[in-house]
Amino acid sequence: IVKYLKQILVNLKDILGEIKTIAHEIAQGNFNVEVKEDKFKGEYRTVMKYLRQIILKLNQQLAHIHAILNKEKELSELRKLVEEDISIEDTYQRIAYLLENKFKIRQYTLYEVNSSRNHIKVVLPPTGDIHFCDPEIYINANLCRAKRTARLVISNQRAWGSVCEKFLYSQQKYYFCLPLVFGEGVTHILQIIGNNEEELKTHLKQIEEIKLYLNTIIPILENKKLFRSLREKSLRDGLTGLYNRRFLEEYLIKAAALTKRRGTTLGILMADIDFFKQVNDEFGHDIGDKVLKEIADIILNTFRISDVAVRFGGEEFLILLHDTDEAKVIDVAEKLRKNVEEARIEIPTAYILSKTISIGVALFPVDGEDVWEVIKYADIALYYAKKAGRNRVMRFRPYMWQEK
Ligand code: GH3
Ligand code: MG
Ligand code: MG
Repeated sequence: IVKYLKQILVNLKDILGEIKTIAHEIAQGNFNVEVKEDKFKGEYRTVMKYLRQIILKLNQQLAHIHAILNKEKELSELRKLVEEDISIEDTYQRIAYLLENKFKIRQYTLYEVNSSRNHIKVVLPPTGDIHFCDPEIYINANLCRAKRTARLVISNQRAWGSVCEKFLYSQQKYYFCLPLVFGEGVTHILQIIGNNEEELKTHLKQIEEIKLYLNTIIPILENKKLFRSLREKSLRDGLTGLYNRRFLEEYLIKAAALTKRRGTTLGILMADIDFFKQVNDEFGHDIGDKVLKEIADIILNTFRISDVAVRFGGEEFLILLHDTDEAKVIDVAEKLRKNVEEARIEIPTAYILSKTISIGVALFPVDGEDVWEVIKYADIALYYAKKAGRNRVMRFRPYMWQEK
C-alpha cells in the first residue's frame, strides 16, 4: 500500500509540475504554450489532453478577437477619412476605389436615391455611359426592385422569366443589386455586374464585407447631405425660394474680394414692386404672397445661373451680377422691368393682375470701394426711380447722394 501511495504522489507531483509550467507561461502572456501529454498515462493523460484542447480553443478565440479588432481599426480609419472628405463627390470616389481595388469589381453602378422626389441617379462610375437599367427608374425610383423591396435582387436564369424587368441585359449579363438602408429607407443601390455566373458568384461571396464597408461610409454621407440641405434651406427665403439676407452677408464678402482680385465689375440691382400694398389691401395677404412668389420667379428666370437674387426685404429684391459693365447691367435691369410689366399674374376668381417694378442700379467698385456702401447707392437710385414715376430703371449718380 505504501509503495502504491508513493507512486500516486510521484505522479501527482509530476502533473502538478507540468500544470504549473503551463499556468506560468499563460500568466506571462504566452498562450501558445506546448502541452506534453505523451509523458503521461491513463487518467493523467486525459487531463493533459483536455488542457491542450482548452489552450487550442483559447488561441482560436484570441485569433478571432484580433481579427475583429483589426477590422474595427480599419473601419474607424475609413470613417475618419470619410468624415474629413470635403465634398460628397470625394466620398463617392473613395467608394469607387474600394470596389475596384479591394474587391476587384470591374462592372458596377452605384445609384443614389432621392426618396422625397422618388428619383434615382447614377453616382458611380463617374463616366457611367452604360445604362444597365431602364432609364424609367431615374424618374420613378419605385420601379427599381431593389429600392422598392429593400431586398437583395440576384439574377438567376429561372423558368419564370427575369428577376427584374427593368434590367436591360438579362440575356447577356449576370448581376445583383444590393440596397443600402439608412434611417427611413433605401438611400443607395449597389449593382454589380458579371459576364458569367462564376464572376457573379465570386462577388456574391464578398457581399458581407462590401456591406460592412458601405454601411460605414453611407451614414456619414447621408449626414453630410442632410447638413448640406439644411444649410441650403437656412440660406433661402421660405416663400420665394430666393436667397435671404443671411446668405447675402456671407456671400458679399467673398463676391467683393473676388471682383477686386479679378479686376471686374459687380452689378447691383435693388428692385421694389410698385404699389404692392394695394395688392394686399385689395385681395388680402395670401394673394399678396402669391404675387410676390410669381414676381420672384420672373426674377429667377431673367438672370443667369451665376447671378444671385436675394429677397432683401418684404417686396424688395437685390440682384448681384458678376463680370459685367454698366451697359450690360442697365440692359438686364431693363429686361427685368419689362418682364414684370408684361407678366399676367393669375389670381383666384379668375382675375388677372399686372404689376410693375422699379429698379436702382449701382456698380462695385466703380461707385464705391465698400460693397455695402454701393448697395446703399443702388437703394438711393431706387428711391429716385420711385420719385420719377415708378416702373423704371435708374442708374445711381453721385448727385443723388449729395441731394439726400
Ligand atoms: P411703392 O413701393 O411703389 O412706393 O409702394 P408700395 O405699396 O409697394 O410700398 P412699400 O414698398 O412701402 O410697401 C410694401 C408693402 O409690401 C407693405 C407690406 O404690407 C407688403 N409686404 C411686405 N412683405 C410682404 C409679404 O411677405 N407678403 C405680403 N403679402 N405682403 C408683404
Ligand atoms: Mg414697394
Ligand atoms: Mg418696399
